[in-house]
Amino acid sequence: MPGRNFLFVPGPTNVPDRILRAMNRAMEDHRSSAFPELATGLLRDLRKVFKTTTGQAFIFPATGTGGWEAALVNTRSPGDRILAPRYGQFSHLWIDLAQRHGLRVDIIDVEWGEGAPADRIGEILSQDTQHEIKGILIVHNETATGVTSDLGAVRNAIDAAQHPALLYVDGVSSIGSIDFRMDEWKVDLAITGSQKGLMLPAGLGIVCASPKALAAREQAKCPRVFFDFGDMIRSNATGYFPYTPSIPMLYGLRESLAIISEEGLDNIFARKLFRIGHLGDLNELMLLGAIAGAEMAMRDVGIQVTPGTGVAAAAEHYRSTAAPLPARPEATPSPDPQTAPGAKPAVPPRAAVRA
Ligand code: PLP
Repeated sequence: MPGRNFLFVPGPTNVPDRILRAMNRAMEDHRSSAFPELATGLLRDLRKVFKTTTGQAFIFPATGTGGWEAALVNTRSPGDRILAPRYGQFSHLWIDLAQRHGLRVDIIDVEWGEGAPADRIGEILSQDTQHEIKGILIVHNETATGVTSDLGAVRNAIDAAQHPALLYVDGVSSIGSIDFRMDEWKVDLAITGSQKGLMLPAGLGIVCASPKALAAREQAKCPRVFFDFGDMIRSNATGYFPYTPSIPMLYGLRESLAIISEEGLDNIFARKLFRIGHLGDLNELMLLGAIAGAEMAMRDVGIQVTPGTGVAAAAEHYRSTAAPLPARPEATPSPDPQTAPGAKPAVPPRAAVRA
């Protein structure tokens, strides 16, 4: 396909040219004495994106799903009880992964389109006086529905119940895009992937663990090899990885963190970007109405937007990408004018005249 490929899905997101250029480099020896400068800088700077000073970042050659697994297997034992609201495809898949690792998941089913029910979580934790529940899984932004949960409210509910369970947060489509505060919300395990807010190709599963999560590791009995925090901690301490890292991805991550730091996380969060879920009984004209409504709402809350610009852009997009209309059916032929009674001499067609 000629021209730039326009990508408008929640992830993978577009990779900025700066990052593509940074990734385009020759392979390097990941055991060389120069390598630790790259690795150590990344592990340090990633913490700013998670808004943590006490958490420890881990970079796995994986995806967000690998991050879910790493967070659980390093801190849990088979048979542990955990609590998880389910309100979309990703909370559903994370629960499935936990169950397949032998964890007992108390599922709170919530209507898709709603977020984590902080009050209900608080009630359940208050009733758990023996502290059998060891962890709570929350998907911060449920990509399937576009709904962001109130993590501060979840943290307050846990604290009000004076419950020691670890707080596990999937920030795959929030970290780097939506306000996320690991230390303030006392998140114990925060997970993201490279292909969303970090603007990289898929290929890194990134986990940040609190000191409490790292302490839980000592008792955790889930089998782990590739995702073992222990191996990472030992290698990362000297600036290396326990196995071969993806050098282009690491250079890409360095550029991504530089871009984020130049723009500033809060400026990124403030940018005008939102998704309109569009499934079911809808057509283009109905969506134009939704965009017009969004424009009005933005003006109501003081966002500078020229009325009609979103509608015009969407209308142009629909027109330029619409499938061609089906050909009109052939008209029934009228009687041949040359042979019809009283016909005039034939006029040559224009092309024949020019020739
Ligand atoms: N969690 C959320 C919220 C996601 O949006 C996704 C992927 O879109 C995942 C987890 C799974 O991540 P991955 O596909 O990188 O394994």
